[in-house]
Amino acid sequence: MIRIEDLDLERCRAGSAEQQLSDLAAIGLEWDQPVIVQSERTALYALALERLRSEDLLYECWCTRAEIREASSAPHGAPTSYPGSCRELSSAQLAQRRASGRRPALRVRAEGAEIEFFDRVHGEQKRTVDDFVVARQNGAFAYHLAVVVDDNDQSIDEVVRGDDLLDSTAAQCWLQEQLGLVRPSYVHLPLLRDDQALRMSKRDSSVTLDGQRQLAVSAVQVRSNLIASIGLCDAAEMINDEQLLSRFSSILVESAS
Ligand SMILES: [Zn+2]
Repeated sequence: MIRIEDLDLERCRAGSAEQQLSDLAAIGLEWDQPVIVQSERTALYALALERLRSEDLLYECWCTRAEIREASSAPHGAPTSYPGSCRELSSAQLAQRRASGRRPALRVRAEGAEIEFFDRVHGEQKRTVDDFVVARQNGAFAYHLAVVVDDNDQSIDEVVRGDDLLDSTAAQCWLQEQLGLVRPSYVHLPLLRDDQALRMSKRDSSVTLDGQRQLAVSAVQVRSNLIASIGLCDAAEMINDEQLLSRFSSILVESAS
């Protein structure tokens, strides 16, 4: 099953989805369902947003990034957290902001909820959920909202992804609770790093399959390199799907519950 997450139009380049699909096929990954495209599913996200609104779990936020940075550097707030500037605006303040012509983002009223979840690599986790954005000022639905709707809709029961998303999992669990969606199990894996231990980026052209092809590295070797980079085989080793599955299973921990 493949899902194209293309809601952030400013970051999506034309043709990149097709390129990624052909790269996946080249390293031997197959899918047996039609490809799901988030930008074609916005009616579903709008329904979820309406449900949050009807439960009084949304509020309008007019803050710019700079304003949030400035306000949250005050001693009481964690450096990355939303300072709550728009959470309790009076009706006069709301009217004034609405008259400004600027569009607000929509944030959830998470009330500092404490969320616990289990990750099969990192173990028991506990996070405080910030008032995060579910619809941006440009009207686009945020990733957190779309992803929980889609996971539920596609009956995804196991989410395996990079550990850069470990911290945002709590926000997604909170949304699942509010929307009455099933929580999948989570596996957050280490990110691929280059030999300077720096995180590899999609913007780094040498890490694309095409870039590797130009360096005369075959798709099969790329597959081995990827597996070796997370420590599941030696660099020179060619492991088959069966061996890969069994080594992957061996790094998973079982839930205590
Ligand atoms: Zn705000």
